[in-house]
Parts: sequence; C-alpha cells; structure tokens
Amino acid sequence: MIRIEDVIEKVEANRPNADIDLIRRAYLFSALHHRGQKRASGEPYLVHPLEVADILADLRLDEVSVSTGLLHDVVEDTLVDLDTIRSYFGDEITLLVDGLTKIAHISNLSKERQQAENVRKMVLAMITDVRVVLIKLADRLHNMRTMQFLKPEKRARISQETLDIYAPIAHRLGMGKMRSELEDLAFQNLYPEEYKRLAKEVDARRPELEGILEKIKVTIEAKLAENDVPFVEVQGRVKRLYSLWKKLKKQKLMIEQVYDLIAARVITKNDRKNCYLALSVIHDLWTPVPERFKDWIAIPRDNLYQSLHTSVIGDGGQAFEVQIRTEEMHRIAEEGVAAHWRYKESKLGAKDDENLDELRKTVEKLLLPLVEDNADNGDSEDFIESLKLDLFPKDVYAFTPRGKVIQLPRGASPIDFAYAIHSEVGDTCTGAKINGRIVPLKHELQNGDVVEIMTTANSKPSRDWLNYVVTSKAKNRIRHWISEQQRADSIEIGRKLLEKEADRFRVAPKKLINNDAEMRRIANEYGLGRPEDLLASIGYGKTLPRNVLSKFLGAEKFAELDPEKRKETRIESGVKAVKKFIGLGEDAIIVKGVDNLLTTRARCCNPLRGEDIIGYISLGKGIVVHNKRCKNVAQLMVNKERIVEVDWAKSDKNEVQSVGILVTTENRTGMLAGITNAIADIKTGIRDARAIISRDDKGQIEVTVEVFDKKHLDRVLSAIANVPGVIAVERVNA
Ligand code: MN
Repeated sequence: MIRIEDVIEKVEANRPNADIDLIRRAYLFSALHHRGQKRASGEPYLVHPLEVADILADLRLDEVSVSTGLLHDVVEDTLVDLDTIRSYFGDEITLLVDGLTKIAHISNLSKERQQAENVRKMVLAMITDVRVVLIKLADRLHNMRTMQFLKPEKRARISQETLDIYAPIAHRLGMGKMRSELEDLAFQNLYPEEYKRLAKEVDARRPELEGILEKIKVTIEAKLAENDVPFVEVQGRVKRLYSLWKKLKKQKLMIEQVYDLIAARVITKNDRKNCYLALSVIHDLWTPVPERFKDWIAIPRDNLYQSLHTSVIGDGGQAFEVQIRTEEMHRIAEEGVAAHWRYKESKLGAKDDENLDELRKTVEKLLLPLVEDNADNGDSEDFIESLKLDLFPKDVYAFTPRGKVIQLPRGASPIDFAYAIHSEVGDTCTGAKINGRIVPLKHELQNGDVVEIMTTANSKPSRDWLNYVVTSKAKNRIRHWISEQQRADSIEIGRKLLEKEADRFRVAPKKLINNDAEMRRIANEYGLGRPEDLLASIGYGKTLPRNVLSKFLGAEKFAELDPEKRKETRIESGVKAVKKFIGLGEDAIIVKGVDNLLTTRARCCNPLRGEDIIGYISLGKGIVVHNKRCKNVAQLMVNKERIVEVDWAKSDKNEVQSVGILVTTENRTGMLAGITNAIADIKTGIRDARAIISRDDKGQIEVTVEVFDKKHLDRVLSAIANVPGVIAVERVNA
C-alpha cells in the first residue's frame, strides 16, 4: 500500500520550498475521518485519497493541491463540514474542497445520462479554480483504475461519464496522457467484450508490428546520430485500443485496413531547431506523404500542444506517422496545462499566485467556450457533443488512392473531394469508395479516409448535390451547371410552347420560329438579345406565347385569328373529332422524369406516373405538373393561356414514389396487420402506417406506400379493398 512518505518525497523533490507540514496535517485529518471506511475492494478508504494525492504529486502540483487531494472526499463522505475544514486549513483549501464536493453532488444527481445544465455547472465549478479540474481528474483516474470491484451497471455509468465529460476536458487541457488512460479504461469497462476481442486481435499482430517499429526506431536513431542531431530518444507505439476501436467502428474497417496502426516519435534535446533537423533526416530516409506535414511548433495548438507531424511511406510500403518534438514539448503534450504552468514558473521565477492566475486564464479560455456556446440552447446531447469536438474541428484530411492529400472543410462529402481533384471529375462523378467500401455520395468524410471517386463519361451533376457539398468550388460548379441546364431546358420547352401556340393561330413555323430575323425583332421588343433568349423566357414562364403571337401578327390580324374568339372551321372541328375518336389528343409536352429541372410535381396532388396530368406554366418554376383531378386545377384554369398539355415520358428506370392511402375499416382488431400484410404480399414497400378510431366508431388507417406508377397503385388499392373488414379505400391528395 502507498504511504504518505512516498507522496511527500515527490513533492519535496519537485518543490524545495513546499509547506510539507500542510500535507502531513491533511493526511492525519483525512485518516482520522475516513477511519473504519472501506472501499469496494475491501481496502481501507484512505488508500483512495492517498493515491489521488500521489497522482497530483506526479503532476508536480503545489502542496495545496496535494493536500486537497487528501481531503477531497472528507465533506462528501464523512460528517465533517466546510466550516471545520476552514478552521483547520483556511479559505484556499476550503474553496477547492467545496468545488469538488459540488461536482460530486452534480454527478450523483443524474444517474442516467448527464444533463446539459449539470455538466455546465460542473464546468463552471471547475473554472473557479483550475486546481479543482486537476484534482477532479486525478480523483476520476484513480476511480477508473480500481473499478473492477464495482457492479457492472455502476462501472458502465461512470465510464460513460468519463468518456462524455472528463476525457474531453483532459483533451481540451492538453493532458494527453491523462486522456488516453481515462479513455482506454472507460472503453474496457463500458464494452468489455469488444475490448477483449480487439485486444486479442492487436496482440496477435503485436510481435509483427513491434518488429517493424523496432526496425524503424533503430534506423532513425542511427541516422540521427550520423547527422549529429541532438536527441533524447525515439519511441515507437501501436495505436491505442480506444482510438483504434473508434476508427474501426466509425469507418467500418478491418484492422488490416488501418494505415496508421503504428507511429514513431522522436524526442529531441530542448531546442526547436533540433526538431527541424530531425525532420529533414526523416524525410531523407523515407518518402513523405505530401501535404500531411503539420507544423504545430511554429503555430501551437490552442491546448498548448507543440510538435511536428509527418507521414511517410515506410520500407515495406507501410505508411506511418512520425511526431517530432523537444523534451519540454513532450512533457506539455503529456501533461498539458499542468506542465505549462510549471514551465512558466521556472522561467519567470514568478510567485505561485501569478502563475495560478495565468493558468486560470488559460483554462478559462479553453473551457468557458463550452459553457457560453451553449448558453442559449439546453440540448444536452449538443452540449456533450461540443465537449467531444476536436480542438481543430475545421478541417478533414482525406487521401486519393495514390496518397495525395486533399484538405477539405469538415462536413465535406465525396462530391467536394471529386471537385477538389478536378472540375471534370466532379461533374462526371457517379459514386465513391471510402477505404475500399462503396458509400453514398452524401457520406461525410473523416480524417484519414482514402477516397476513390468513380466517374462515368457524360454523366451530369445533380441538383441534390447542393445539399451535400460544403466547398464553394463544388457549389459554384454545380450551380453553374444547373443554370446552364435550366437554360437549355427552358429553350426547348419555350420552343414547344411557341410552336403549339403558333399552330393554334395557324402560323407556320418557317414564318415565325424558324424565321431568325422576325424572332430577333420580337426578342428586341422584350429587351432580349437573341431568339434563344426569347424562347428561354417563354420556357421560364416569363413571356406568354400568346403575347409573342400578338406582337408577330399585329393587333388586327391577332384578333382575327384568335382561336379563343373565332369559330373553328369545319375542317378543324372535323380533324379534332377524328383525333378524339381514334384517341389522339393534342401533342403533349413530355414530362421527362418527375422532378426535372423545369418540370416539378405539384405538392398539392402529388401526381403519380400513369395518372392523367396537366401542366401549368408558373413564373420561374417552369411547368408544374398537377393531377387532372386536383382541386386546384379549376382555379388555375383562370389563366388558361398558362395551361399546357403534358404527358409522361417512358420511364427508363423504376423510380418509386410515396403515395398516401386512406382506408376506412370496421372497428375490429387486426385490421392494420391485415392491410399491411396485403400490401407486403404484392411486394410493395410501406413507408408509414398509422391507425385511429374515428368518431363514428370506424377504423381510419393511413398507409404510405412506395409505388412505381398508377397501375401499381391500382393493384395496391384493390389488394386492400379485398381485406375483410375494409369499407373504403382512397388515394390521399389526388
Ligand atoms: Mn474521490
């Protein structure tokens, strides 16, 4: 068992002027009040505060922190109150113990998951004095190390809290070592089976990996020595289990596919110049992966971390990362704010008070944004998410299959990636593989993804893509394409509309549409330059074909030929009658798909392929397609000149469409099941189904089904109608 003398020795070694007597008094006080208490392990309770004090001594904190570590559970777990602490140990320690007691209370309040308000209070309590954070982290670390004696539920709860709150805080404060240990312990206790499985897998590969690492280490050391680079040591490591697990899970990889499974670290003597010397040695040894190099020495991270990062392709084609930093930078990377504080102290020779003040400012800078950013919304998930965010959330780095790095903003998709490679690649992109697996184009890229873009010649961008891209390059290219495409479509539609209207006025195409001079004259009257501009304007619905005819014919001729006013000739009405008899309607505009660039499906009636439809030329939206039976059509008829015949084009792919069906049934059990079974029997997808009892004691069941066309829908409707107990079936929204 650990002894207080071990702790005191450490403090004395690190801080020659420390008030050791304070620590002894705190120890005696703690021992006295925890007397007789036992931990779950059966050990005396005192072991816990002693171990916490030891962790704090290892962090080389002051005697006040170490003493508070000894006293941290006294108010929470014994009869001692804060006033007693104050009378024995003064205001400073009382304040710290109070902060720690508060955190313990908040943590106990929410046994389920941490509520945002509670977490916020915890963070605020921690900020009142930075030492509270450090002591709390030491307390949590020791509890995590000794969890095997607790019940599984309690282990899971504490582990979850550690992953949600304490590990991210350690990360924010740059305490890499603390964070790693907390995460790995939490992983082990929260997902014991997966931990075991992964540990076994890694252990199986360990001899091989360590062999590779050893070779790398020896090679680097020899080369550093040969080039007189002053270094302390070269370390090799296998990726930690928790971060490996997260990566495997997030990217659905096999362990063989993780390319940064191993990494090397060069620790140089204390001069940053040595880091750059070491870097040139590494780049001389192996080919660096371009753009993977990061200089966190010239520009340190917010959490004080400094290092050079580079990735190289090793001898066997195995890529690995190398981190290069000085001894002092290494200590800061492992211990974060605690180390930084000491460093300043030794350098400036300032008093502890000033250093505490500076440390507080640093910690506030790192932790307060967590609280402030979320002051307005009480969403605990969001808040916890913001705790988990990386310190540099803005960018992701993804690779081409050849190892070129593409830097993109966070949230970027394979489409952004494709456009970042080349506009042409973006325009013709049809699919993507990430780390060898096919993913949807809207998939969000993660750091380290290897992205392979699949292209198809003549393939075109889609308007939907705008929802998945974040880079301005991709956005601009897609918008540009849409507007070009829209223009081409609107010219085509405008031509058809004008042809139809001219036909009604008995004007031959060669006189108007194919007469460039005449078209140009009319276009100029509208302030437009070329005939295509006029056609585009008609297609967009900005210019009515009827008005174009009026300008072409002149008022008098127009009135004379107006099909609205003049009587049909006998021949005309005869032709119409014959056409009708043999089933030929007017030449309809063909609606290509459902939601095309210039044809959109009306929301009010949601027309289904195969149903009778009618088009309405709406300003700027092109042709809006309604179901002929839609109740809004009558109203649209007021603008008769905007109504246009449309028809479905032959479909080349089986697009499904969601259609709502309302079924009225007798009020008996099993109706919903009967209906959904009937739908499933004819192999039709159901998106949603809900049932209520209406006031007249009938069942009302609303089902949303996925159908290809009207025929398909009719089959569904009759299948439902045949279910015993069904009174009526109707399509919703037609
Ligand atoms: Mn404790």
